[in-house]
Amino acid sequence: MNKPVVLVVEDDVPVRNLMCTTLKTHEYKFLTAADGAEALLLASSHNPDVVFLDLGLPDMDGIDVIRRIRDWSNMPIIVISARSEDTDKIEALDAGADDYLTKPFSVEELLARLRVTVRRLSLMNGANSADSAVYLNGKLKIDYSAGCAWLDGQELKLTPIEYKLLCLLARNTGKVLTHTFITQKIWGRSWDNDVASLRVFMVNLRKKLESAPDSPQYIQTHIGIGYRMLKVE
Ligand code: CA
Repeated sequence: MNKPVVLVVEDDVPVRNLMCTTLKTHEYKFLTAADGAEALLLASSHNPDVVFLDLGLPDMDGIDVIRRIRDWSNMPIIVISARSEDTDKIEALDAGADDYLTKPFSVEELLARLRVTVRRLSLMNGANSADSAVYLNGKLKIDYSAGCAWLDGQELKLTPIEYKLLCLLARNTGKVLTHTFITQKIWGRSWDNDVASLRVFMVNLRKKLESAPDSPQYIQTHIGIGYRMLKVE
């Protein structure tokens, strides 16, 4: 796809300038907003491909901006949080954000997040969409209608929960899914011991999926937050 149009929502001028300079240097098109009202206006009038959204805005909570955008659009939203607490990120992800960046962040981190999101966009727009019956990612193949998964042509011997987990992550490739979101989808609830069992299921799924479970290629861990399926080239 062409270089995506990025909406930068940030009231902190030095941070916004750094982001804009970086985007300009790498030939991304971008728009900027300094508060939530302007962000919502630009999001609806310009329909950007990606939104970088600061959570601490002068006029409204960034979480509400996410909820308002999610009422009508799935555009990827990467939240920027100055607060190091995981709870803000988790709340933002559960409200529909795709990813997060913690201040202070480097130019490399910003560009890396953008690249992950652009890959997710091309996946969403391509034949391999969430509705497609067959999922392909690197050496991983899932046939949703047959209920089977293969790695490099070998069928994966997965338990029903491992398969459900794999499908949930695959259908949300590129997006960070929180522990709460995953346990709700898998068990219909999210108790402390469900999060503990999720870790155990994830260890077992990775043993089957990853050639090097200590440096996973497919499923990324976000400590204290959740997991994400990466698009593998
Ligand atoms: Ca701010």
